[in-house]
This record gives sequence, structure tokens and C-alpha cells, in this order.
Amino acid sequence: MPCAIVTGASRGIGRGISLLLAEKGYKIVAVGTRSASDVAEYIGELTSRSPESIYVSADISTPDGRARILDSAAQVGGFDILVNNAGIAPKVRADLLEMTEESLDRLINTNLKGTFLLTQAAAKQLIERKTDAHKMIINITSISAETSSTSRGEYCISKAGLSMVTKLFADRLAEYGINVYELRPGIIETDMTAVVKDKYTAMINGGLLPIKRMGQPSDIAKAVYALAEGYFAYTTGSVMNIDGGFTLSRL
Ligand code: NAP
Repeated sequence: MPCAIVTGASRGIGRGISLLLAEKGYKIVAVGTRSASDVAEYIGELTSRSPESIYVSADISTPDGRARILDSAAQVGGFDILVNNAGIAPKVRADLLEMTEESLDRLINTNLKGTFLLTQAAAKQLIERKTDAHKMIINITSISAETSSTSRGEYCISKAGLSMVTKLFADRLAEYGINVYELRPGIIETDMTAVVKDKYTAMINGGLLPIKRMGQPSDIAKAVYALAEGYFAYTTGSVMNIDGGFTLSRL
């Protein structure tokens, strides 16, 4: 049974990814910051689909948290796929000229540095892993890796950095049969976008997107599943926009 670590699995996009993979026969090492008792309903959903799956309460921005994720994965037999989905938005949408160092540090530490260091440690284990499953790393970045939003520049910077992390590991790990992919969600309906849902809905109704709806976690989950199954085996370092056509140039 292939095993996938999914960070940020308890809510939103990660929840969608982890539950779909679990349903399709994957063992999941699900990661979130909250305690297991706080996410009991999610764990119930997960293990009803995939009884050998586990939940790990860990913060990817800390060395202890990252070590706990990999130790827990080792205890259930190791992993084949790492889905780097955990990410945060700024607490306050401040103009670029007013962005605080504290907020910049917070975003970089979790979205970029934490993800990079987890990937680095995970990659060493994947290199050694003997498995029939497809070995891969999937980074969930954002359209913000290329799109300027001056009210959350620290988020854009962190995702642009993560985009380079994808390229670097794709280059470094190809010789070991480990492919690395980047998925860029557009506007997806989750807790993260709840505060701007009305604003974005109005923009979508006004023609922002060729596909006139917010994305759902399942839209991202299906792409992860297609990658996990190995349907894109002759590609690495690739970027896929899952954004309702947001990045399509139009006249
Ligand atoms: P969300 O609803 O806010 O959920 C975030 C998840 O990440 C939660 O499970 C949370 O765990 C976990 N998490 C947060 N910080 C963590 C940390 N330091 N260590 C481990 N887990 C952590 O977010 P989302 O909208 O699903 O977004 C998921 C990813 O997609 C993020 O990387 C985000 O940047 C990206 N994305 C989202 C959108 C969008 O429109 N929603 C668009 C583009 C990209 P707890 O529940 O325990 O807090």
C-alpha cells in the first residue's frame, strides 16, 4: 500500500487531498498543528477510509515538528509521497509598504523554510527507500507565486520561493527516480479565503475567471491523485495551474 505524508491535512485543501488518497487505497500520514482530540472528527473520516492512516500533531516550522512527522511515518512503514500542502496567510492584509518584519518571518518560516527543511530531510529518506510505488514530492504553492498582491506580499514571496524549491529538488532527485511537482491553486473555497469570499465572489461574477466559480479542495485533490498514480511519470519540475483559468491571457 503506497503511503503519502500530507501536511496541513486537517482542513481545506489538505483535507480534500488526504481523504481522496485514503479512499483510493493510500495510507496517509496526516499532519496538522492541532491536537488529535481537536481533530477527532477528521481522524474518524480518515481512518474509516484507510484504517492504517495516522494523524500527527506537528508544526512544520520547528525542527521538533519535522522530526516527529518523519519518525511517525517510519513507525508505520515509511512513505513514498510527500505532499507539502501546509501553509498560512498573513494575519493582517497590510500594504507592502507597511508589512512588518514579524509577519514576513512568520510566513517565510512556515511556508518556505519549514517546507524546504522538511523536504530536505524527507528526500534523504526517499532516496534510500525501496518501493514499488511512485516516489514523489508535490508542492502546493499558489498563483501568488507569480501574481502580485500588494496587500500580502509576504505570502507571494514565500510561494515564489517554494516554486524554486520545486525546481531545485526536481533537478537533484531525478536520478533517484523521485519526481517533484508544483501545483498552483487559484481561489479555493477554504478557511483561508473565508474572509475574502464575498470580495472574490463578486470578482468572479464580474469576469475574473473563465471558469466562473471558486475552486474546491477536490479540484486540487484530483490533480494530486493523478500525479500520485504515476500518470505524469515522464515529467518533473512541472507547474500545473489549477485556477479556473486565472492565469490565461485574455483579450
Ligand atoms: P487552511 O484551510 O487554512 O488549512 C491549513 C492547513 O494547514 C490546516 O490543516 C492547518 O492545520 C495546517 N497548518 C498550518 N500551519 C501549519 C504548520 N506550521 N505545520 C503543520 N500544519 C500547518 O488552508 P488551505 O486554504 O486549505 O490552503 C492549503 C495550502 O494551499 C496552503 O499552502 C495555501 O497557501 C495553499 N493555497 C490555498 C489557496 C486558497 O485559495 N485556499 C490558494 C492557493 C494556495 P490546523 O488545522 O491544525 O491549524
